[in-house]
Amino acid sequence: MGSKGFKAKKSLGQNFLRDEQVIESIADAAGCGPADTVVEIGPGLGVLTDALSERAGKVIAVELDDRLIPVLSARFALKDSVEIVHGDILKYDWKEARAEEGGVLRIAGNLPYYITTPILLGILEKDVPAKSICVMVQKEVADRIVASPGGKDYGVLSVSLQYYGKVRKVLDVPAECFSPRPKVDSAVVVLEPFEKRALGKEEEKAFFRLVKQAFSQRRKTLSNSLSGINGLQKEDVEKVLTENGIDPKRRAETLSVEEYINLSKEI
Ligand code: SAM
Repeated sequence: MGSKGFKAKKSLGQNFLRDEQVIESIADAAGCGPADTVVEIGPGLGVLTDALSERAGKVIAVELDDRLIPVLSARFALKDSVEIVHGDILKYDWKEARAEEGGVLRIAGNLPYYITTPILLGILEKDVPAKSICVMVQKEVADRIVASPGGKDYGVLSVSLQYYGKVRKVLDVPAECFSPRPKVDSAVVVLEPFEKRALGKEEEKAFFRLVKQAFSQRRKTLSNSLSGINGLQKEDVEKVLTENGIDPKRRAETLSVEEYINLSKEI
């Protein structure tokens, strides 16, 4: 049973926050000012929605579970600044969420963990003009998102999200802060998308192809893992790497995002 007698659905990633201090901390980290509009992903029973509405000018809360819509509508019936949208966040039309004059658009949420990556990459790939994205995710995923080159956590997710913006972890949240209690610990991360990206749309495709191929065999040297990319033989790959100041014996996890960006333009 979840909070307040509501039967939580595991399949929808429903683990409701019950720790008041954590709720306040997430709402603070979301960074909303009184002129800002915030889209909340998966409001559930509305605890974070409430805290966000104390700080933002407008909250648009997108919830998939139809059982929660009457609960949310009743809870916020007297708060005009809260709009409840019934739908799937992966299909949400982000053009509906516009910043008001003098404010910016922000995104926040205690995410349904089963779709963490598609939610985050979807927002970034669609160029949603959000100033910040503050989300609770599984702790392991948070560690991967903010990882620096060189460690085991550094991979495709780290490079992809750090390509799109600045990332930081703001809070570790133990499982007992939720009801029902999840099997994993959680953490809150904040992403601030860059206003201008380093690559154009076509170049980005090459960049992500390169990153995926490099990490597809992360134990191998780059000259091996990248051989075959864009029809290049191993010797050609070694030449491009050397010309870009990258030792072909290095492995995928040692390259910085900037090195991947530069290499993707050449390979
Ligand atoms: N914000 C609430 C809290 O912190 O207590 C609930 C967080 S719970 C981890 C995730 C919420 O996302 C649930 O309410 C779930 O129904 C909702 N959800 C799951 N999949 C969704 C989707 N595709 N689109 C929108 N909401 C979704």
